Amino acid sequence: MATILLEIATPDKGEIYKNDINMLITRSICGELGILPKHANLLTALLPNVMRIKENGGEVQIFVSGGFMEVTPEKITILADAAEKPDDIDVERAKSAFQRASERLAKKNDDIDIDRAEAALARAKARLLVKGVPIG
Ligand code: ATP
Repeated sequence: MATILLEIATPDKGEIYKNDINMLITRSICGELGILPKHANLLTALLPNVMRIKENGGEVQIFVSGGFMEVTPEKITILADAAEKPDDIDVERAKSAFQRASERLAKKNDDIDIDRAEAALARAKARLLVKGVPIG
């Protein structure tokens, strides 16, 4: 089966994933993208999402909080603001972030940076989704 090299790095952790994969499914500002080997050149920004990576006959999930993705026919390079494999996600921390952001958005006063709170909420929801934790 054809493969394409996927590399994922973050400023905090450096490279967190490098493997020859069969397909990547991720959410970008252009909508959901499925990247297969020999994909056309592409540069796009990613939204917070749980990426699905098909590799070696199986599927792994990796959370990305946003960032940039460059695709060439041979390689996908993702520089993410933050990214975690499911085992590295701290559920209690994500629950607290979810709670904080929800409370800020519920207050709706002028001191609240709505965009920031919504972005924090989206990150927390995606992290909890990877761990299978039901949310509101
Ligand atoms: P928090 O408010 O808890 O810091 P956040 O969404 O603002 O959450 P980020 O800015 O996305 O955090 O990430 C900052 C760093 O903390 C990154 O290295 C990220 O991988 C790590 N991180 C954030 N939340 C979690 C979590 N729930 N489990 C594991 N690592 C996390």
